[in-house]
Amino acid sequence: MSKRGSYAIRISGLGDGDHDFPFELDQQFFALFENPEIKKGMVQAKVLYEKRVGILALHFDLSGEVEVICDRCLELFMAPIETVQTIFIKLGEAAGEVDDDVIIIARDEHEIEIAQYMYEFIILALPYQRIHPEDKDGNSSCEPSMLKKLEAHTVNDPDQNSKSDPRWDALKGIIEKNK
Ligand SMILES: [Zn+2]
Repeated sequence: MSKRGSYAIRISGLGDGDHDFPFELDQQFFALFENPEIKKGMVQAKVLYEKRVGILALHFDLSGEVEVICDRCLELFMAPIETVQTIFIKLGEAAGEVDDDVIIIARDEHEIEIAQYMYEFIILALPYQRIHPEDKDGNSSCEPSMLKKLEAHTVNDPDQNSKSDPRWDALKGIIEKNK
């Protein structure tokens, strides 16, 4: 069984109804992916396989926290994530993807690997702006020493304003030529 196979749900032999598959997504899970965006986390995944006449679906309920880099102080912190997603399943001759939320699995398939789906759902659930949360007094919980360093860098950089921007330089070149 592949490593991702340990995040598979066995669908053969299941009767009609709802079937629960709980997973705990920890370091081992995130190590499966070659994406530096998330290396650490602890996410509880409640996966429900719904099997009824005319409907096959996987319902995901993911909640927990994952480690990301703060946009402001560049230190790592644990950002909470929470998401609910559904994937509809169709049976076909060969596996494939119809849509973002509809997949085809082969009729004789015994299990569905869901690691990739869960990972994508977690990435989608991340806030657009990732910044250390404020504490209960409304103060930033960013790393103060890092903020100071970044601030000092911004103020003391003498090249800050004179730095040339290659896009602007190219534009200036065009303007010159058309004079
Ligand atoms: Zn921060």
